[in-house]
Amino acid sequence: RVPTDTRDYICEFCARSFRTSSNLVIHRRIHTGEKPLQCEICGFTCRQKASLNWHRRKHAETAAALLFPCEFCGKRFEKPDSVAAHRSKSHPAPLPGPQESPGPLEPSPSISVSGPLGSTEAPKAMQVGATPSLSPQ
Ligand SMILES: [Zn+2]
Ligand SMILES: [Zn+2]
Ligand SMILES: [Zn+2]
Repeated sequence: RVPTDTRDYICEFCARSFRTSSNLVIHRRIHTGEKPLQCEICGFTCRQKASLNWHRRKHAETAAALLFPCEFCGKRFEKPDSVAAHRSKSHPAPLPGPQESPGPLEPSPSISVSGPLGSTEAPKAMQVGATPSLSPQ
């Protein structure tokens, strides 16, 4: 007697039969400890779909608890302190504020234009201090 549907590859663990050895090899991973289900977020692997669903729910709850986003990159954190720590580490930016003029020392020749022998240097001083920052506008 020759069986028409030859399923000679039988799983020795659960007695399921397969037509090709590769199918059996893939199936046998369920029993041999290789975990076919994997969380795509953290790489966590498990053998049962229910376990993976339960595991994924932790990710969702964690994400829901992150109420404080970083305004630079959008990454979310659980506490404002965490945001501040992340911000100072990942986004080292100069402190926000009015841009002070680079030269705190005011060139005195511009003031003493009427001095003697200073008339030749006056145009240079005018170019340097062309934009006075201390003028109240
Ligand atoms: Zn099996
Ligand atoms: Zn995960
Ligand atoms: Zn950030």
